[in-house]
Amino acid sequence: VFILALETSCDETSASVVADGTEVLSNIISSQIDVHRKFGGVVPEVASRKHLELLNQVVGEALTAAGLTLDALGAVAVTYGPGLVGALLVGVSAAKAIAYGLNIPLVGVNHLEGHIYANFLCEPGLDFPLLCLIVSGGHTDLVYMAKHGDCRVIGRTRDDAAGEAFDKVARVIGLGYPGGPLIDRLAREGNPKAISLPRAYLEEGSLDFSFSGLKSAVIYTLQRAEQRGEEINKADLAASFQEALIDVLVDKTFTAAQDTGVSTILLAGGVSANSRLRLAITERAAGSNYRMVVPPPVLCTDNAAMVACAGYYKLLRGATAPLTLNAVPDLKLGEERYEGNFKGK
Ligand code: ATP
Ligand code: MG
Ligand code: FE
Repeated sequence: VFILALETSCDETSASVVADGTEVLSNIISSQIDVHRKFGGVVPEVASRKHLELLNQVVGEALTAAGLTLDALGAVAVTYGPGLVGALLVGVSAAKAIAYGLNIPLVGVNHLEGHIYANFLCEPGLDFPLLCLIVSGGHTDLVYMAKHGDCRVIGRTRDDAAGEAFDKVARVIGLGYPGGPLIDRLAREGNPKAISLPRAYLEEGSLDFSFSGLKSAVIYTLQRAEQRGEEINKADLAASFQEALIDVLVDKTFTAAQDTGVSTILLAGGVSANSRLRLAITERAAGSNYRMVVPPPVLCTDNAAMVACAGYYKLLRGATAPLTLNAVPDLKLGEERYEGNFKGK
């Protein structure tokens, strides 16, 4: 079955066609980064307008690149939350129109479940139960999955998300937006042991995260140096910050893996594009006999192919959405917020 998926939850307008949940026939991603850069972050109203402007063309390109016309589609999947409400609405409205017009099933997908399913695009035969570390712009979650679609959050950030910490630290260092990839690059030239920064493990046994203390420590380090008239090596600071954050991410992930008894660990979300995190978590897994899956970077950041894959497994279990589907900006992982379903022809 060919599934067309739409993703418009934040600042990427994306459409993809995936065959049987595994074969990516197209994955068109139009990033609005250049539009938002001058504001130093995503401006919701601007994002919605851009999605509206771009979506038809992106969908057209996704079909053309897949070599298909609309009548070949078996279902349409769309991210309906969490994300920016106005941005989500653009994708949801378009998906509903396509499902209605073609009389095919509509599948509502949780954006975070989408991130997780980037792993199933690469490795369809993964065994359950498994653990996934989601590290993105808005979330840092440890998720236990007993079966497809069964997502239980067993650890989460209590303040900043990992990506948010990257972006804020990049701003105070003066690197620009978005900060994650810029810190990743600069850190390669720095010494991760040069500056001592805190690692927050929280109470004994907790699988939660906290990154606001680390972020504050970076700010104090810069302020102190400025007061003393000293020059801070930005590459060392970037490397030290990145290492402190990754140490905690990796440690807690393997504690959670041991606690839950899984043998497979997945990595997901925009921050999993980080080269140091990919290396650190893969090495730890290899050293302790876990199967580690890390999607290629283009499937880590926001894209519609991951949504098509999550949508495929929902379609298989009959979890289609009604044509009254609405955007749910605060949708939680493991939660469904619509009633009834629309199976189409
Ligand atoms: P969410 O998925 O939580 O709703 P989002 O969709 O905005 O939030 P993603 O697109 O999944 O987030 O990820 C974007 C985040 O990933 C940004 O914070 C960005 O800085 C970060 N990021 C991207 N590439 C890298 C990298 N190489 N190193 C570190 N962080 C990165
Ligand atoms: Mg984005
Ligand atoms: Fe995302």
